[in-house]
Amino acid sequence: MSEIKQGVSDSAVPKLADLEPGWVWLVGAGPGDPGLLTLLATRALAQADVVVFDALVDERILDLINPGAERIFAGKRGGRPSANQDDISRQLVALAQDGKRVARLKGGDPCIFGRGGEEALALARAGIPFRIVPGVTAGVGALAYAGIPATHRDAGPAITFITGHATGSNVPDNLNWQALAGGSPTLVIYMGLSHLGRICAAIRDAGRAGDEPVAVICKATTAAQSVLVTTLERAEDDARTAALKPPALIVVGPIVRFRDELAWFEQLVHAGAD
Ligand code: SAH
Repeated sequence: MSEIKQGVSDSAVPKLADLEPGWVWLVGAGPGDPGLLTLLATRALAQADVVVFDALVDERILDLINPGAERIFAGKRGGRPSANQDDISRQLVALAQDGKRVARLKGGDPCIFGRGGEEALALARAGIPFRIVPGVTAGVGALAYAGIPATHRDAGPAITFITGHATGSNVPDNLNWQALAGGSPTLVIYMGLSHLGRICAAIRDAGRAGDEPVAVICKATTAAQSVLVTTLERAEDDARTAALKPPALIVVGPIVRFRDELAWFEQLVHAGAD
């Protein structure tokens, strides 16, 4: 008979892959709440010799890294530009060639606006064995914690993830806003806060109504989460008045209205449960 400990039997814990020497795991850390880490992500943090991490990884997740591991910060700090992408890729290759067990930890999902694809390509081309460990992307986690279902049969039969930031800090000019706004009832824009006005104007120019609901979700899934609900025509002014700070995710579409009835997370935080 199997022994039950704390409600979970040992046999219920699945056998997981090990992070082996000379391997790199590209690991998604989720949007903030450590409870959203996958079992493979926690395993990588426990087994890694080196963890290379980005600015958006929550402190509480960094606390889960085994104390013996080397930590290498590869993100933006104090307004200085982020480490060069080629340098990061080269470093991952060199660490693996050195026989290290390497966890490359990224906020959200490594391959959603996270350059995981570029790093995986560098590893593949250098013959380094790797694994991609998906994470809860902000477009899923932030919506859930804001009480906005990502899809809904009537109000949101499609959802599109868009970057609001191109290399060189402009709104990406290779996006067809006409097609995006015309074809997808729900638009989720990453890295768009500093271009909020221009993004909302582009969506309206594509035919969406000025009073269509917009949510700007900041620091999602943390105790500091805030959600501004506004409209396409008022979003820029309202965001300025509220002095919103990144990281922020913009959600456009009728689906935002569900928050009126489904907001759940702030109530828990206010009740001191987080
Ligand atoms: N790979 C990440 C995205 C990196 S791009 C992912 O899958 O989530 C960085 C952008 O992600 C931010 O500008 C913001 O738009 C969004 N983001 C990440 N974490 C967030 C959070 N906790 N709250 C709100 N937005 C977040």
